[in-house]
Amino acid sequence: MMLLDKDLSPFQIEIMIRENLSSLNEKIIQTTTRCGRGAADIKLVAVSKTKPASDIKLAFEAGQRVFGENYAQELRDKAKELGDLAIEWHFIGHLQKNKVKHVAPVANFVETIDSIELATAINERAPRKINCLIEVNVGSEGSKSGVAEGEVIKLAEKILLLPNIDLRGLMIIPPFDTDASKSRPYFKKLKQLLAQLNEELKPARPFNELSMGMSHDFEVAIEEGATIIRVGTAIFGGRWAV
Ligand SMILES: *Cc1c(COP(=O)(O)O)cnc(C)c1O
Repeated sequence: MMLLDKDLSPFQIEIMIRENLSSLNEKIIQTTTRCGRGAADIKLVAVSKTKPASDIKLAFEAGQRVFGENYAQELRDKAKELGDLAIEWHFIGHLQKNKVKHVAPVANFVETIDSIELATAINERAPRKINCLIEVNVGSEGSKSGVAEGEVIKLAEKILLLPNIDLRGLMIIPPFDTDASKSRPYFKKLKQLLAQLNEELKPARPFNELSMGMSHDFEVAIEEGATIIRVGTAIFGGRWAV
C-alpha cells in the first residue's frame, strides 16, 4: 500500500523532510554546477503554506532558514509561534491591501507586488526597508495575479520613490504543466525583462533577483538564471485540504 504523507507518524515526517531537503540541495548543486553557476547563487525558499509550524521547525533544524507563506494571517501566526528562530520569511501569495498589516511587520521579502497601491501600503506599514519583487503576469488565461509585462517598467519607476521598499527584481508563476520544459520560455522572458528594467531605469544598485521555479520546474529555472526558487511539495509533501 502506498503511504501518503498525511498518514505518516511524526518521526516519519521528520525523516521525510530531512531527506527531501538533502536531495533537493543535492539537485541544486548538480544543476548549478552543470550550468556554470554556484549553489550559493540560489536562494531556496521552502514553501510551507498549509503545513504546521512543527514542520517548519523540523526543516529549520535540518538547516533550512528561508520559508515562504501565501496567506497573510497564516504568516503572522507562524512568525509569532516561531519567533525564537532566525527565519527569513518570504510572502509569496496574492496580497490585499487590508492584509498588509499582518505581513509588513514580519516579512523580509514580499515577492508579489502587483500595484503601486499595494507597494504604497507596504511602504507605510514597513518597520524597516522590505525587499520586494514585482510579480509579472504571463498573460495566460487563468492567471489573474501580477502586472502585465508592458506595465512593469512604469510600476518599478514609481516603487523606486518609496523609501521603505527595496525593489530587488521580478517574480513569475508560469501556467502549470507537468512538462517542466514548458516553463522555459516564461523564465527566459522574465530574465529579458529584468535586463530591460536595469537598462531603462539604471537603479543605483541593479535589480538582480529572479524568483522562478517550483517543485516541478526549479531545475529549468536555475538553468535560465533563477536566483530564488520556491519549493513546497518536494520538501513537505502534498498539501491536504484542512
Ligand atoms: C505553493 C507555491 C509554490 C510551491 O509550489 P510546489 O509546487 O509545492 O513546489 C511556489 N510559489 C508559489 C507562488 C506558490 O503559491
